[in-house]
Amino acid sequence: MYMHDLIKKAITKHDLTKDDIVFLLNNDEYSEELFKAADEVRQKYVGDEIHLRGLMEFSNYCKNNCYYCGLRRDNKELTRYRIDIPTILGMAEHGRDMGLKTVVLQSGEDVWFTKERMIELVSGIKKLDLALTLSVGEKPTEEYEAYKEAGADRFLLRIETTDKELYAKCHPGQVWEDRARCLRDMKRQGYELGSGCILGLPGQTMESLADDVLFFREIGADMVGVGPFIPHPDTPFKNEKGGTLNTGLKVMALIRLILPDINIPATTAMETLAPNGQVKALQSGANVIMPNITLKQFREHYQLYQGKSSTNVAPDKSLEIVHEKIKSIGRTVGLDYGQSPRWLAERQGL
Ligand code: SAM
Ligand code: SF4
Repeated sequence: MYMHDLIKKAITKHDLTKDDIVFLLNNDEYSEELFKAADEVRQKYVGDEIHLRGLMEFSNYCKNNCYYCGLRRDNKELTRYRIDIPTILGMAEHGRDMGLKTVVLQSGEDVWFTKERMIELVSGIKKLDLALTLSVGEKPTEEYEAYKEAGADRFLLRIETTDKELYAKCHPGQVWEDRARCLRDMKRQGYELGSGCILGLPGQTMESLADDVLFFREIGADMVGVGPFIPHPDTPFKNEKGGTLNTGLKVMALIRLILPDINIPATTAMETLAPNGQVKALQSGANVIMPNITLKQFREHYQLYQGKSSTNVAPDKSLEIVHEKIKSIGRTVGLDYGQSPRWLAERQGL
């Protein structure tokens, strides 16, 4: 009964304490009720439209060494690639011609893509009349500023975890405070701010996941993605257990309950864990999907983890699959840029 009241409180007040969140995460008995509540709040605040973001994985070079990620610098088994700028622009144009309104440029932290090259890329994409999300990692303040001036609309940088000790154990050479600084910079600069966490890291607790959920509210995130950690065989975390779809969906549903008007993607990692993972996510609070529009020959080399969903699929097929999923649950595809209502309201000073 207590749990039932907690969920009801979250639907109406969009407020939960850390203890409430931990309680809900620790009890699976009410998972379905939680998913239903998040679905209800999603419908009320962001509607039935699902916004598509065409994901372009344009380089798998990375200077970092995150222990869980297949793109980490010390993974010598990976075939590295870097797509040239005209080809990336061609992929974006093709995405636009297939009806996409937003594209996402994602990569490892690749030093070849200097500020000047990134500006060239951003400006080229903006000429195509697309909304643009960048997901290229940690940069100096003035670099984010320069991308924004060149036309970048959104940025996606997961905090990964708010547990600083755990962060240090997973990210050699990286400092949690630097990552948090990046997020605060971009919020101040007017980006539509995307963040998120990876769950199922070794030693991660429900308490720390609850802190993650509350952190997204504190930094004013406009988009939050939750990705269960899936082990990769050529990384130091290859023998770890990884995250589960159920916990991922619960964290995502809780985020929807306390941040009702943001955008929430149904992530690829969720689809990798279960064939209907993304559909389940769309019915538990999510309203965004990021179909992969990277050219087929590069796809298999963007191996963050083993068994990554739809690695061998061409861009047109990726989009077709996503459209089918959306239709199968009676929802529709958003036809505009799909900014989060939260960000729009903030800009209008409401
Ligand atoms: N390099 C940029 C960064 O780290 O922000 C962007 C690309 S990175 C590959 C995108 C996301 O992939 C990370 O934020 C991380 O959460 C996720 N990721 C990496 N390895 C993963 C794994 N083994 N399982 C699930 N997600 C993973
Ligand atoms: Fe590089 Fe991002 Fe992978 Fe870390 S998560 S190794 S920064 S690509």
